[in-house]
Amino acid sequence: RIAYVNGRFVPHRDAAVHIEDRGYQLADAVYEVWAVMDGRLADAEGHFARLERSLGELKIRQPMSRRALEMVMREALRRNRVREGLIYLQVSRGVAPRDHAFPGDDVAPAVVITAKSLDRAAVEAKAAKGVGVVTVAENRWGRCDIKTVGLLPNALARQQAKEAGAYEALFVDELGMITEGAASNAWILDQDGVLRTRDTNANILRGITRRTLMDVIAETGLPFQERPFTVEEAKSAKEVFVTGAGSLVLPVVSIDGQKVGDGAPGPVATRLRRLYIERARATAL
Ligand code: PLP
Repeated sequence: RIAYVNGRFVPHRDAAVHIEDRGYQLADAVYEVWAVMDGRLADAEGHFARLERSLGELKIRQPMSRRALEMVMREALRRNRVREGLIYLQVSRGVAPRDHAFPGDDVAPAVVITAKSLDRAAVEAKAAKGVGVVTVAENRWGRCDIKTVGLLPNALARQQAKEAGAYEALFVDELGMITEGAASNAWILDQDGVLRTRDTNANILRGITRRTLMDVIAETGLPFQERPFTVEEAKSAKEVFVTGAGSLVLPVVSIDGQKVGDGAPGPVATRLRRLYIERARATAL
């Protein structure tokens, strides 16, 4: 495997950043993940736009133009022979002697890109079985709309899920509402047959997969509302699923060990997964 680090392609095992990189010391860095389909970037535009927004919110300089970034990403895919998989891009504020306040303008942002292949057949087999999730108390900062590498609460939540034999953790706020997953947005098909996902005025990541799936749903004519739901509503929902560049549209079959519906992926989530993948493949750049 080959990684891109600050202007160079290097063997993955030798790819390293400096100990004074602010991403390493302070989580002063943002990232994006694209699904790769047929060697192309799924939801390309949405992820680039969010990257630019994340950088802007943190006043991290654009490391290079979008065109240049895209070229380097395509080269990373080519060198790693990735046709189906994921591509990860991270931009930190750069390398400077440790100090909480920003360094001067002479410090250039640091860019890291890695790409990996996925076995789509294995991924589809997993999706066909559905996954379990656990609920955990929301304990993240107030700017979850920025896609930063400050993922310690997410990592702890995911570990808790893993220890419970589950795949994902859903954060629950003090009102008992599900905010989102540790690495996904959460959805239900409620008892009235309405598809629901939390609005993005709340403190969650504005998922790109979520956004595209909303367009897909609009085309199907299925009832949909951007409206939060409680853990109890999720547990008694007809169907539950999560969305993300890694998960795509992934049926949830249990919450805290309790079956959702009959404990198998529902027809709506299964259909939306298929429709999302068709759309993402057809529009990948
Ligand atoms: N929420 C969180 C916390 C995430 O890390 C992610 C990333 O996958 C998502 C939601 C889904 O976002 P996207 O669909 O843009 O991948």
